[in-house]
Amino acid sequence: MTPLLQVEGLEKHYPTKSGLLGRSGGVVRAVDGVSFSIARGETLALVGESGCGKSTTARLVLRLIEPTAGTVRFDGIEVSGKAELRALRRRVQVVFQDPYASLNPRLRVGEAIAEPMEVHGVGDASSRAARVQELLGLVGLAPYHAQRYPHEFSGGQRQRIGIARALAVQPELVVCDEPVSALDVSIQAQVVNLLKDLQQRFGLSYLFIAHDLAVVRHMADRVAVMYLGQIVETAPKRTLFAAPRHPYTRALLAAIPHPDPRRRGRVAHLGGDVPSPVNPPPGCRFHTRCPHAQPICREQAPPLREIATAHASACHFAEDLPAFDAAAAEGIAPLAAQRLALYAAAKARRSA
Ligand code: SF4
Repeated sequence: MTPLLQVEGLEKHYPTKSGLLGRSGGVVRAVDGVSFSIARGETLALVGESGCGKSTTARLVLRLIEPTAGTVRFDGIEVSGKAELRALRRRVQVVFQDPYASLNPRLRVGEAIAEPMEVHGVGDASSRAARVQELLGLVGLAPYHAQRYPHEFSGGQRQRIGIARALAVQPELVVCDEPVSALDVSIQAQVVNLLKDLQQRFGLSYLFIAHDLAVVRHMADRVAVMYLGQIVETAPKRTLFAAPRHPYTRALLAAIPHPDPRRRGRVAHLGGDVPSPVNPPPGCRFHTRCPHAQPICREQAPPLREIATAHASACHFAEDLPAFDAAAAEGIAPLAAQRLALYAAAKARRSA
């Protein structure tokens, strides 16, 4: 079946200037040959440390910035001309990390939610007003909220408004760029539940950008791990959390703090800084921080290759890595369990 979204060899390189005269310096390889696909109704999570290129990838998919190279196909059609771009803008919507920054403070909430419908010529004024009321109800807000301004709402409510606005033109794919990372954990639970409910109800696909692996464990069907502008591992969620086959993924899992303070500090954390994307290390980009690096890793870049069904890793030694030490990532299970309990409690409160 044709994937809803198919991204091939996506690149975004920014030239840099150096010196007083602003001479051409190097090139920042923010995204460097990224490929993935998303099926209808599927959630693909894109994870990695800050600066790894995941948000730039999201902006490239949305065509908020132009790629240096690569293709984006939506529903089998390459997005290359104005007509495809117009269709993409309607069928793909975005929920941003900071809901306050993404809402115009001068527009009432009802106007902000109706704006995408106006832009895309959907309905007339009265049908748009009715749709705004329907959307407010869908995201758990009241009809009178349409008359209020964004500053009158809490962070969680603003994110609900952002979600209502994203759903206004009935998209098929929603790009969620760190949608809960600016919220308190208890509010995160409500917003994550809402996103899951809406997905079930409307068959939405999500490209879910996140650095919080406990949230990813709850939301994702598949996970793609990014490092220095490239995808280094991709697998179904269960496989990735139980048997990761890239040292960087293992380090990310091991870095999750354990909720029990007495058990913190027992795991090996990833050392060193992320190298500069202007001058990435030769060979495997992770070799400067990898505990398993061999001489070949400094010379040859490992391709992202399938090592099992639906499981790919960009490591020369993916098959030879020692068995994954579940104790090294022992934080993830209780942390996820803690979050799941919060999500369940929030859901129960909502349906009570
Ligand atoms: Fe580590 Fe080498 Fe694998 Fe890169 S290719 S992740 S340096 S073992």
